[in-house]
Amino acid sequence: MDHPPTPLDTATSARLRRQPRSGTKPEVTLRRELHRRGLRFRVNHPGLPGRPDIALTRVKVAVFVDGCFWHRCPEHGTLPHTNREWWQAKFDRNVDRDRAKDNALGELGWHVLHVWEHEPTESAADRVETEWRRRVMS
Ligand SMILES: [Zn+2]
Repeated sequence: MDHPPTPLDTATSARLRRQPRSGTKPEVTLRRELHRRGLRFRVNHPGLPGRPDIALTRVKVAVFVDGCFWHRCPEHGTLPHTNREWWQAKFDRNVDRDRAKDNALGELGWHVLHVWEHEPTESAADRVETEWRRRVMS
């Protein structure tokens, strides 16, 4: 990953400190909930494009838990005040990369779901379970 430019404004550095890149809490709670519901999956499947956070291999459903900051969620994804151009370019690259890995997974017959980190675990799990059910039935 590129290093963010310095200096960061304080709001941005505070936000980054709250943003671990993997094994984040929303991911962990979602996995726990899916497991509780009897869904089985692989974590960060290394053989798949983008190493999905959750891969339901039997039904080929890949789930990414997107961070609000890095993936610019409409509710929380504000652009930092300093070095706006650097951040804009960085976010644009993230979007491109997301699209590329979604396409690559689609070509392999996978269905891709994106979940926001701010999304309540229950509703995120419902979305995954609905897709899982649909694919199991077909
Ligand atoms: Zn958000």
